[in-house]
Amino acid sequence: MDKILVHICCGVDSVYALRKIKEEFPDSEIKGFFYDPNIHPEEEFDLRWIETKRVCDDLGIECIKGDYELDVWMKRVKGYENEPERGERCTICHDLRLEKTAELAKQIGFNKITTVLMMSPKKDFEILKKVGEEIAEKKGLEFISIDFRKKGGIEKMNQLSKEMELYHQNYCGCIYGLFKQREGLEYIPELVSFGKGRLPGSREELLFIKEIRTFAQNLGLKTSEQQFDFMDWKIISSKLSIKGNPIPHTVLPYSKSIRGILRAKIKELIPFKDKTVVKLNKSNAELWILNTELKEISIDEMRYFTNPVFILGKEHKEDIKEGTKIEMQLKTEFNPDAQSQNLIIGSLHSDTKMFFHSDTLIDGSAGMEKNQILKAIKENLDDIKNGSVSIIVLGAKTFGNIGLRKFHEELKSFEITKS
Ligand code: SF4
Repeated sequence: MDKILVHICCGVDSVYALRKIKEEFPDSEIKGFFYDPNIHPEEEFDLRWIETKRVCDDLGIECIKGDYELDVWMKRVKGYENEPERGERCTICHDLRLEKTAELAKQIGFNKITTVLMMSPKKDFEILKKVGEEIAEKKGLEFISIDFRKKGGIEKMNQLSKEMELYHQNYCGCIYGLFKQREGLEYIPELVSFGKGRLPGSREELLFIKEIRTFAQNLGLKTSEQQFDFMDWKIISSKLSIKGNPIPHTVLPYSKSIRGILRAKIKELIPFKDKTVVKLNKSNAELWILNTELKEISIDEMRYFTNPVFILGKEHKEDIKEGTKIEMQLKTEFNPDAQSQNLIIGSLHSDTKMFFHSDTLIDGSAGMEKNQILKAIKENLDDIKNGSVSIIVLGAKTFGNIGLRKFHEELKSFEITKS
């Protein structure tokens, strides 16, 4: 019997290609090999792997996860960093991935290899075929070339990818391609870390959702994602000085940037139950002095483009009085095209809905442990299956409960459509 080892780069490219290989080689043993040493950053590698695994599990195909050998890839493409996409660097990148596939095929006793890279409209089919055949021949293997894109292949791939709600990356994968694609931007969002948490709309938040989804699917549960757009907010830099001394602080989400340096005096201190609100003699910016230690603050209600609020811990209460001089600097960014998602496990119309959330604040606080959610799934397995209980993992909670609002909107629109 023929044994085919299929190199896989991501879920989207494999969702139709693997079906096609199964269809064309019904009597062969088929195994996947996820090998993507070219991907940057590592969270992107993880995301592509988890979606690949979801596709393979769905088709009953075993998939081997290759190591994340970024250093090997970097060495191989050295000197070709500035090549355009489809140029020499890409040929080397394909060579490396196919060589590794051929090596593994030899080791595990497979006689044929192929790659789902031939699915991508951005890849040159003839070059892949040539490279694949040369590499396979050297190892005494056969390379299978199928132009998956023909006969409506791309449309079928898009349809399946939509049905499975697969993560659709918007760049090929490597850091050099990314530099070119994001040329002109002040910074490349994919390469900037905004803290140690799972911020709304981040890769980390999405990965969390996908891991839980895979877990639930493997237990035979119905899952779906509700993707939604929202206005994202990021803090780029901030500085606060009181009487010339820099002060540790956090910033309330959706605070606007401050132009230049704001030099002001404290005008008024207004005590509230949980904090003291400090007003300034110029500007609508505020300070909040908490009654607790310094912490990040999540917001329950959405606030858009609003006045800057700097947050301080209780130890600064004594330093701040009317007339105290302060200096503030703040640079923040708003992105209207951000996306987050809710995960629905079980029926949308169950009597009991258990709510969890996927995001955290920038320092990782206010979040939930994955195990907490997995435990709830296991404990309610039968009830989720019979439709009486569902588990809802909401996105973008810390930014004003956006996920919950979107979930209720979806529920409402479904009910209206039904009636
Ligand atoms: S652009 Fe894509 S194919 Fe080309 S080197 Fe980068 S990751 Fe590899």
